[in-house]
Amino acid sequence: MPRPLHATIHLDSMQHNLARARACAPQAKIWAVVKANAYGHGLERGLRGFAQADGLALIETENALRLRELGWLKPVLLLEGIFDASDIPLLAEHDIDSTVHCLEQVKLLEYTQLYRPIDVHLKMNTGMNRLGFRPEEFAAAYRRLRAIPGIRNITLMTHFANADELEHPRLSIAEQVQRFRLGADGLPGERSLSNSGGVLHTAELVQELQSDWVRPGIMLYGGTPGGRSAKDY
Ligand SMILES: *Cc1c(COP(=O)(O)O)cnc(C)c1O
Repeated sequence: MPRPLHATIHLDSMQHNLARARACAPQAKIWAVVKANAYGHGLERGLRGFAQADGLALIETENALRLRELGWLKPVLLLEGIFDASDIPLLAEHDIDSTVHCLEQVKLLEYTQLYRPIDVHLKMNTGMNRLGFRPEEFAAAYRRLRAIPGIRNITLMTHFANADELEHPRLSIAEQVQRFRLGADGLPGERSLSNSGGVLHTAELVQELQSDWVRPGIMLYGGTPGGRSAKDY
């Protein structure tokens, strides 16, 4: 039986939170993360609440297509990239950016004829240990992607572990930034570093967290990572 629970969602609060992210990282373009059905708020509300974002980022290909159906014309990014070769023609057809985090994805792109150029985001594992190339494998992966004719821009990306805690005793953001710098050293392309935790720390780590793109998620929905209250930032 359904329980009598109601959620009231204020689109203007979502807009406000996006503006807050922009104020934290004024030099960066923003991917508003709308994965998991816009963190449970509904994809359509995400689209409307974050209309001012520079792009929308999520996981599922079908929801990326849904954003296009709903009329979203700005960039769309698949945060985990393609899961199958059949996704590749959709990227080209609907102009969807794809993350590349493993060799299997590189091979799928090598084997598939792209009839229209696509942009990809090459992901480095700097400590999250979930997805991404190790720093020492990164340049080789970059070169393989660069050799694929249909690939246009390659953005260099990482997703921090412990981003909510600036000085995590086991692995700090500064250490992960250092790994990223070494692995990406000399490679051209825009940089995409921070999730909400990183965005909220940008004031403290301005030099380290200089990046062309940021990818806030939970903070756009009123969540405050790290156990602090929104007032504290
Ligand atoms: C979920 C996710 C984000 C957003 O993370 P938050 O902690 O919710 O801000 C950013 N980048 C990637 C790759 C993600 O998977």
